[in-house]
Amino acid sequence: MISFAEAKRRVLEQVQTVAPDTHTTALRDALGRVLAQAIYAGEAVPNHDNSGVDGYAIRSADLGSAAVTLRVVADLPAGSRLTTPLQAGEAVRIMTGAPIPPGSDCVVMQEHVTREHDRVTIRPGPAAGLNIRCAGEDIAAGSAIFAAGRRLGVADLGLLTALGKTTLPLLRRLRVAILSTGNEVVADDQPLAPGQVYDSNRATLRAALSALGVEILDLGAVRDDRHALTEALQRGGAQVDALISSGGVSVGDYDLVKEILLQDGQIDFWQVAMKPGKPQAYGRLGGAHFFGLPGNPVSSLTVFLLIVRPALLKMMGANPEPERRFQAQFRGNWHKKHPRMDFLRGIVHFDHPDGTLAATPWVEVTGPQGSGILTSLAKANVFIVLPEGCTGVVDGDLVTVQWIDYA
Ligand code: AMP
Ligand code: MG
Repeated sequence: MISFAEAKRRVLEQVQTVAPDTHTTALRDALGRVLAQAIYAGEAVPNHDNSGVDGYAIRSADLGSAAVTLRVVADLPAGSRLTTPLQAGEAVRIMTGAPIPPGSDCVVMQEHVTREHDRVTIRPGPAAGLNIRCAGEDIAAGSAIFAAGRRLGVADLGLLTALGKTTLPLLRRLRVAILSTGNEVVADDQPLAPGQVYDSNRATLRAALSALGVEILDLGAVRDDRHALTEALQRGGAQVDALISSGGVSVGDYDLVKEILLQDGQIDFWQVAMKPGKPQAYGRLGGAHFFGLPGNPVSSLTVFLLIVRPALLKMMGANPEPERRFQAQFRGNWHKKHPRMDFLRGIVHFDHPDGTLAATPWVEVTGPQGSGILTSLAKANVFIVLPEGCTGVVDGDLVTVQWIDYA
């Protein structure tokens, strides 16, 4: 049996990034997708000096050591501009975002002036540059915005729109097939007979893959029948970049997935020293990377999050990001009965129960930790990582926790 680190290393070493799309993609469809090329700014953002407040654009040279009264010569809402330069003794009423009129070098907030008819009185204090947002202060013209491999987030799409980029060069969308195995597993629109379970694994996989923005080929729930399973796996393997099954990879009489993989594809490994998630398989089938997840719902989603998801992100071409790990103080006691690496499901708290901020975050397990107890993962925000040599932790010990990332 190989270690968790070795399993993850082997998978990440073998998966390769997909090719760029042959066409560009509309920005509105690009959330979570990966840039095939670096993006450079054409124009500066903002492309003109503009007002940061609602107020009065003036010439700072007009101000003195006592209050001065200026004549308001124009009204300048955002979206309008003035071309005649401001003369001595003049002010322009200006709104946030409107271009600074020529000749003006300062904007005084409307809360700081006294206005009467077309006169505005300003006390001493404001200096050149006050409340002016300079052209290019967000992005300089021609500057590099994103490197290739950037996975586009929410703010990124706003930034790219501000730059006038309406279509983007992206890497091809990944195609991923999912299927469940098991005679007891039924689809969610069927009544549940005694001995049957609803197909929660396919629901979590579908959701987790949607969050990654991949194209999903749903092969359904397949019975533990060699013929049916072979047919489904081969069909998936011929069409997708990655094929993910759940169930049928342990050592029971009906665990056919591993046998089919041995016969029709290649197995790289099929057991990993981790808990949950010991029975699992990785290999190739047809043109696809094959991930055989365990059937138990917690194990299935845990292996997906810790091994499959990083592999899919690499295939999507996303630049690797460090795992979000940190230390937290353990509350309670946990006796570790096996030598495998443990991924307990935990809730990390940054506040004390009284609402004050804790100097060190603290973490507790989510309750019973059986690999069939999906509430343990639904409640969790972290995995508590107990390494292979560890025999347990007691109240107050520092433990490593890993943030659970779905997107
Ligand atoms: P297996 O790995 O096929 O031996 O399944 C282990 C356990 O996970 C059994 O209790 C199964 O009933 C359960 N299980 C397998 N597949 C699913 C599924 N798709 N959804 C919910 N539970 C499942
Ligand atoms: Mg099964």
